[in-house]
Amino acid sequence: MHFIGGAEVRGSGSRTQPVFNPATGQSPRRLLLGEIADVEAAVAAAKAAFPKWANVPPIRRARVMFAFLELMNRHKDELAAIITAEHGKVFSDAQGEVARGIDVIEFACGIPQLLKGDYTEQVSTGMDNWTVRQPLGVVAGITPFNFPCMVPCWMYPVAIAAGNTFILKPSERDPSAGIFMARLLREAGLPDGVFNVVQGDKTVVDALLQHPDVQAVSFVGSTPIANYIYETGARNGKRVQALGGAKNHMVVMPDADLDQAIDGLIGAGYGSAGERCMAISVAVLVGDVADQIVPRLAERARQLVIKDGMEPDAEMGPVVTGQALERIEGYIGIGVEEGAQLVVDGRGLKVAGREGGFFTGGTLFDHVTPEMRIYKEEIFGPVLACVRVRDFAEAVELVNRHEFGNGVACYTRDGNVAREFGRQIQVGMVGINVPIPVPMAWHGFGGWKRSLFGDMHAYGEEGVRFYTKQKSILQRWPESIGKGAEFAMPFSK
Ligand code: NAD
Repeated sequence: MHFIGGAEVRGSGSRTQPVFNPATGQSPRRLLLGEIADVEAAVAAAKAAFPKWANVPPIRRARVMFAFLELMNRHKDELAAIITAEHGKVFSDAQGEVARGIDVIEFACGIPQLLKGDYTEQVSTGMDNWTVRQPLGVVAGITPFNFPCMVPCWMYPVAIAAGNTFILKPSERDPSAGIFMARLLREAGLPDGVFNVVQGDKTVVDALLQHPDVQAVSFVGSTPIANYIYETGARNGKRVQALGGAKNHMVVMPDADLDQAIDGLIGAGYGSAGERCMAISVAVLVGDVADQIVPRLAERARQLVIKDGMEPDAEMGPVVTGQALERIEGYIGIGVEEGAQLVVDGRGLKVAGREGGFFTGGTLFDHVTPEMRIYKEEIFGPVLACVRVRDFAEAVELVNRHEFGNGVACYTRDGNVAREFGRQIQVGMVGINVPIPVPMAWHGFGGWKRSLFGDMHAYGEEGVRFYTKQKSILQRWPESIGKGAEFAMPFSK
């Protein structure tokens, strides 16, 4: 179902697509894909709701967000179970995703403070200047399959708290979390039309990109599509932030606590089956680190507990679809052909009782080199590639040469190495002994290079700036206005 103007509607389309439970491989439900008419209906509802919502005092918009926050906390496990059933990630990981989404809702509750603006008294005699931030109007969010709750939460809480009205286009692979949150927003007292969901594929995305009443588009997904969204949105005069793919490196220095580095690599490489934009997919092993840790990584990769994500002891679930499984296992074949050393081969894994599920095991490659496709391209699966380098300088150069710059980590006990790493590395989000450095809700999320198209990061203060436009007002009153027209460029007097 779509969610338009406060109601769940079937829409005008007849094309459908299966929604799988990746753990069983079955598709208990089909998604009705939206058409252009559904986008038009959603934009019309959002446009109609905008003037009144933008006029609601920020503190009262914040109260709706507080009510929504309470409902999200009350229903968080239900939402996590929905995510596991459609995405496949293990339940505790889905709970973590919901918790990180809730963080942004909490941030958005502070919108009165965030929208306060600046004021300068007496910029000229008898004249004051101030700056306000006003909402844009109808804005849209297009989101990927891998975080069906958290990534939409990077966008809409901030957008609607700032006074915009919003249209979410969730991933067609796990569409239910968006509708679940829409119902809670309605229950929280959000006026009809302020938050809408249109399900679908490229047809819906293109209709949003071309619609003259959509003022801004936030996108998170793969790099080729992010690039397309940025170019098309900009051509159509929209403000666009488009977050793309990644190939995140973890540099392990010889002085690091190697037990901690191994834990970091296993969790960040194989957690969520490697389907995180902040997953670590490349281990950059400096000096003699590789000889010490590759055998231990291999042992841990073989021991991963891989099951239906609803099993309490599962560490890793299936990947999202049969196609994703084929693509990931295809890359493992490519790595072998390219001459990398396949230390652990996760291909062909069958899970007892879940034989139809889209499972693959944890895969580990050693002696991967920068020319290989398995190094350059985003595999987006549980495949960890080890690259051996001589020293710190070579590690930094390697990371900086990569086309992506989303996240990166460095494990070390040397404060100066850590400091230089933070300064020199050409990546948007850096972890020092932190494997997945996803910034907190008030810091903002975004990569560099081909991991982000546009200038502004998601959520945090940059998120508020993205969803508002600045207006400067200069004001004086008759007592301070002199006589006569002025022909010189006005300056402070
Ligand atoms: P995707 O690019 O296939 O899809 C993302 C969205 O774009 C979906 O809503 C989809 O319906 C839509 N879409 C797909 N093809 C389209 C087309 N041709 N035209 C218009 N719209 C289209 O990405 P995905 O597979 O859902 O998600 C995984 C990708 O997302 C990975 O590359 C991952 O790194 C990236 N990602 C990045 C971040 C980040 O913050 N940088 C966060 C999460 C995921």
